Amino acid sequence: MSDGWNPRTKAVHAGTRRSQYGEVSEAIFLTQGFVYDTAEDAAARFEEAGPDEFIYARYGNPTVKMFEDRVATLEGAEDSFATASGMAAVSGALMSMLKAGDKVVSSRALFGSCLYVLENILTRYGVDVTFVDGTNLDEWKQAITFETDVVFFESMSNPTLEVIDVKSVSEIAHANGALVVVDNVFATPVYSNAFAQGADVVVYSTTKHIDGQGRALGGIVLGSRDFIRGTLEPYMKHTGGSMSPFTAWLHLKGLETMDLRVRAQTTTAHALATRLQGHVALERVIYPGLTDHPQSALVAEQMGKGGTMLAIELKGGREASFKFLNAAKIAIISNNLGDAKTILTHPATTTHQRLPQDQKALLGITDGLVRISIGIEDTDDLIADILQAIEAAQ
Ligand SMILES: *Cc1c(COP(=O)(O)O)cnc(C)c1O
Repeated sequence: MSDGWNPRTKAVHAGTRRSQYGEVSEAIFLTQGFVYDTAEDAAARFEEAGPDEFIYARYGNPTVKMFEDRVATLEGAEDSFATASGMAAVSGALMSMLKAGDKVVSSRALFGSCLYVLENILTRYGVDVTFVDGTNLDEWKQAITFETDVVFFESMSNPTLEVIDVKSVSEIAHANGALVVVDNVFATPVYSNAFAQGADVVVYSTTKHIDGQGRALGGIVLGSRDFIRGTLEPYMKHTGGSMSPFTAWLHLKGLETMDLRVRAQTTTAHALATRLQGHVALERVIYPGLTDHPQSALVAEQMGKGGTMLAIELKGGREASFKFLNAAKIAIISNNLGDAKTILTHPATTTHQRLPQDQKALLGITDGLVRISIGIEDTDDLIADILQAIEAAQ
C-alpha cells in the first residue's frame, strides 16, 4: 500500500493495523500474551504464526509490529525487529551474527557502549576486533580481508561528527565477503539512504530522534527478511531484549512528527553553526553541513544535509566549557540527543569520561569540546542563548 508514498506520508501511515474498532490513533496492545480459541489453534500457531498472529510479547506484539513495519518502510528494509534500547539493537545485531573465531573490523570513533560491546564483550567470546580510523579508506582497505566477517561503524561519529563513507566502505567489505552493520543514529531516518548505499544491516537507537521527546529507550535492527527472521529474531526472542508495546506506541507518535522536527532542528543547527563560525572565543565549530567540514562533499552526497548535531570547542578548556554550560538558560545540560529540547554535553567529563587520555586525544575529545544537540525551540532564541553563554564563559 505504501509503495508510492514519500517518506513523510510513510512516517504517519505505514504499518498501521486497525482493530475492529477502527481507532484513529494506533492502539496499544499492553498484553504479554494472546489467547487461542482451541488447543489445535495454539499448536498451529507455535508451528507457524501467520502475519497477524502473535504468541508472546517477547516474540512480537501488534503495537510493536506497527512500529517495526513503519520504520522498515521508511528505511526501505525488508524487515525489522524492535528492541528494548539502542544497545540491545547494537549488541543483538552483532551477537546474533558472530561466533568465536570470527573477525570484525570497526571504526574507532564510537558511542561509549558500542565501543564496550566490541572491545570488551565480543572479544571475551573469541571474536577478533580490529579498529581503524573510519574516515580513512586506506585503513579500511588494509584491515578488511577475505577473513573479515563483519564491518561495523557509526555513519556519523559521536561527538566529533566525522562522517563515514557508507558506499565506499560497503564496497570494500562486500568485495571481501563481509557484512556491513551501520549504526545510523546521527544520520536519522530522515537523512538516511544507508541500504541504497550498501549497508546490509542498519541499527538505530530509537531513544534519539525517533522518540524525539526524551520519553523512552528503544532500538531497532533493520535488514533482509532472512537475516531478521533467520538470525536476529531467534537471538532476540530467546535472550529477551524486545521492545515494550508502550514504548512502541510512544515511538509511533514520535515517527509522525520526526520529519518536521529533524528538518527544523537541522535548519537551526545550520544557522547556529554559521553564526558561530570564526567566533573569537571558539577554537573551532564542527558542523557537517558547513563547507569547511573536512567531508562536506561526502555529507552532501550521503545525507544531503548536515543533521541536528554540532560541536564547538571553546578556548579555555574545561573551565570555559563548564562556565558555558552553566550560563545557558534555554539549552539544558544532559546527555540525550535528538530531543525536542536543546541539550549541551561535555563529552570529556561525561559520555566519554571512561576513555584514557590518549584515546580522547586521538578522537579529538578535548576539555573545551561541547556537543550540542539542537532542539525545536525558536532559532533566534537559541542562537541568542548560546551567544550569551559563550560571552559568559570568557
Ligand atoms: C544512544 C546511542 C546508542 C545507544 O542507544 P540507547 O538507546 O541509549 O541504548 C547507540 N549508538 C549511538 C550512535 C547512540 O547515539
